[in-house]
Amino acid sequence: MDRANLVPGGGCPYRRPAGGVKRRIAGYHRDDEGHWVADLECGHGQHVRHDPPWQTREWVTTPEGRARFLGRTLNCVKCDHQIIDPIETG
Ligand SMILES: [Zn+2]
Repeated sequence: MDRANLVPGGGCPYRRPAGGVKRRIAGYHRDDEGHWVADLECGHGQHVRHDPPWQTREWVTTPEGRARFLGRTLNCVKCDHQIIDPIETG
């Protein structure tokens, strides 16, 4: 059994914290191509269209759906990498 294939977003060479870094959705915006991006509380953005196919994300296309997901958490890949290679914010 090769369990590495079961890791979401597999292929990343970096070691991640268990479960990844969760950040709350603080808002949304659309990119230049009109794709929805969730604005996370850490200041990073995350395209919701990149989610795995077993997670239906049609909610982001409606105002009701977006409101419902405000405050929910997404795994922030950028924060994952910052933890591995910390940035002084002091
Ligand atoms: Zn982040």
